[in-house]
Amino acid sequence: MARIVMKFGGTSMAGTERIRGVAARVKREIDAGNEVAVVVSAMAGETDRLVGFCREASPLADAREYDVVVAAGEQITAGLLAITLQGAGVKARSWLGWQLPIHTSAAHSVARIEGVDTEHVLAAMAAGEVAVVPGFQGLSDAGRVTTLGRGGSDTSAVALAAALKADRCDIYTDVDGVYTTDPRIVPRARKLARITYEEMLELASVGAKVLQTRSVELAMKEKVRVQVLSSFSDAPGTLVVDEDEDMERELIAGVAYDRNEAKVTLVGVPDVPGVVAAIFGPLAEANINVDMIVQNIAKGEGSTDVTFTVPRTQLPLSLDVLEKARGTIQFAKVLSDAAVAKISVVGVGMKSHAGVAVTMFKALADRGINIQAITTSEIKVSVLISEEYVELAVRVLHTAYGLDAAA
Ligand code: ASP
Ligand code: MG
Repeated sequence: MARIVMKFGGTSMAGTERIRGVAARVKREIDAGNEVAVVVSAMAGETDRLVGFCREASPLADAREYDVVVAAGEQITAGLLAITLQGAGVKARSWLGWQLPIHTSAAHSVARIEGVDTEHVLAAMAAGEVAVVPGFQGLSDAGRVTTLGRGGSDTSAVALAAALKADRCDIYTDVDGVYTTDPRIVPRARKLARITYEEMLELASVGAKVLQTRSVELAMKEKVRVQVLSSFSDAPGTLVVDEDEDMERELIAGVAYDRNEAKVTLVGVPDVPGVVAAIFGPLAEANINVDMIVQNIAKGEGSTDVTFTVPRTQLPLSLDVLEKARGTIQFAKVLSDAAVAKISVVGVGMKSHAGVAVTMFKALADRGINIQAITTSEIKVSVLISEEYVELAVRVLHTAYGLDAAA
């Protein structure tokens, strides 16, 4: 017997027919003798619709009332699943965020879970009843309904699994696992049987998002074993685990790409102390998140070039901020290019293997792809290239690291 939290996303809950499919999956776990609690999302598109109503009502909707409105989507699916389970002969009861309660901070619309009271869920489990819990919602100390930020149901599920000391948190979604890269670009991408928390976080930060990032951080902290599976197939999913549990891992878990950055180069910046602070200070004050940074070595003329990337949507703002700071930075000119992309290879194996980056640089050079900037972390190497080569670069790297599935 295992104790399992099952979480179903919006596409899995979209309509009574699909909810019947969900109920059948829950019933299967119950029939196998497991203890089950279920966390649900709103029907696909429903939260967007509710957010839209709030905006229509007032562009500056009070966050407390926004939460009252947008939390409603999950209330509906939780009740519907409980009804459907009962119809299938499974004892079930819904427990809303305020009823358990799920304690959160008071940061309405972006609240953080602070604790989950498990009394009712444990009592339900002991009585052979499935507790159905709406994701995304909680209760503040002031006694008001809160929500966790978009995609927050994943975090609700992990938090409940941690509080219940569940053996597993199974997250059913519309993809059937985590792949070595985007299968739309590389048809021979493979589904990973296992991936570590750290790799999941790095992949999410460079564009490959399957779970809400916060849910992965929480799973890592609480050591919750998370499994990503499809609601629409019985294929085995991907298990997200601790590094120690992933002994047979490969060097590289995946290759990701991100088209959301733009490149800025400041030409002819004085090569004196304080200049980098003069550049990045004003950008930080404008809440612009700089990612990659390259500073060239001065060639003895007393000036140098600094290249960095900013979110593509913030390029115009960045250029404006830099122009205003021109007097203090004293650059000769500014160049920018939005047609760039960041390609990253991620793998915990890098910690103990040399030469991972070189493989990347060689593979790209062989195809004549120029590298414009590089950043690395303990388990990631990212390069900035021209956007027109994204697909080629991803394919070439996928092959270079031996990730292609057997034909
Ligand atoms: N329904 C919420 C959203 O769409 C939460 C979730 O599905 O995770 O963001
Ligand atoms: Mg989701």
